[in-house]
Order: sequence, then C-alpha cells, then structure tokens
Amino acid sequence: MSKAENKEPKMDKIENEKCPMCQKNTLTLYETEQDVPYFGKVFLFGMSCSNTECNFKENDVELEKQGEPSKIEFTISNSKDLNVRVIKSSEATVKIPQLKMEVEPGVASDGYVSNIEGLLQRFKKILEAERDTADEDDVRKKAKNLLKRLWKVECGDEELKIIIKDPSGNSAIISEKAVITQFKNKKK
Ligand SMILES: [Zn+2]
Repeated sequence: MSKAENKEPKMDKIENEKCPMCQKNTLTLYETEQDVPYFGKVFLFGMSCSNTECNFKENDVELEKQGEPSKIEFTISNSKDLNVRVIKSSEATVKIPQLKMEVEPGVASDGYVSNIEGLLQRFKKILEAERDTADEDDVRKKAKNLLKRLWKVECGDEELKIIIKDPSGNSAIISEKAVITQFKNKKK
C-alpha cells in the first residue's frame, strides 16, 4: 500500500483584519480543508498576526463528520504507529498517563492534523524547554528522563498509551487499534 501524499489544499485567506491582541490590521484569517485518507474531510482554520511584536496565532480543526464527545485511547507499540494520523481539536485534552503529562485545552492549545510522531513532538518540545530552562535541578532531571523514555517509544522499545478526550467530537486517531469511548458532554 503506497502512502498517498496529500494534494496541496486550496486555501481561503482574508488579510489585513484587526488583530484581537494588538488591535492592528495585521491579522490574516485562513480556512482550508484536507482529505485524510480512510477518514474524510477535515476543515482547518485559524488566524495569525504578522506584527512581529504580537505574533498572535490560533488554529483549529473541525471534522466534516463530527463525532460524539469521546475519549480515544491509542497505544504506541512499534515505530510504525508513529505514522498513524491524529486529528486534535483545540477543545481536546491530550494525556500521557505513563509520563504523567497532560496538555489541556486553552490559549496555547491549537487544533491540528498530524500523526502520532507529531503529537509526541509537541510533548518533547515542552520537555526540552523544561530540561534547558527550569530553575530546579530535579525538574530538569525529570524532563531529561521523560525525554529518554519518549526516544525509546519512538524506537519501538517501549509502549506508550495516549489518551485524547474531546467534548466537541472533533478529534480522531485513525487506526483500528484506537479504542473509542463516548461520554456525556457535561459542558452546556
Ligand atoms: Zn496582533
């Protein structure tokens, strides 16, 4: 089975809008869509401010076939699993219980279409920043150890469970191995 490359998506853009952060007319809004193989259409939209003193940015995703509020569990057990596609909306919480790590929805929580490797990359960035800049020795040491474990996971030497919980139903892990549990949406 050949890996079909995604066609260059068409993108709608609106430029010179007012930025909600710096109030200058330097905001670009965009909207595009992507066909995810074996899944369907995903709409990506966002805004970014070109004022270099501001750099405000926000991205999100929406599924054409929006699901129910659900918890998606996926265990990485070999390096092939790194290629599994992941769609995460800005409302999703991503948890890695074994590493006691969690990324919650919020200002810095972007929606994205990526793969497991890209998702791990985001956790690695957080850990690398802690390793390099944390004041306390043990925080730096802990980050270093967790990074080592992530490297092992990427080599397929260690299994790792990832949990994505999304009340909006706009997240997905596209694999037969993904375990999906629906839950009642307590928001609203
Ligand atoms: Zn701005």
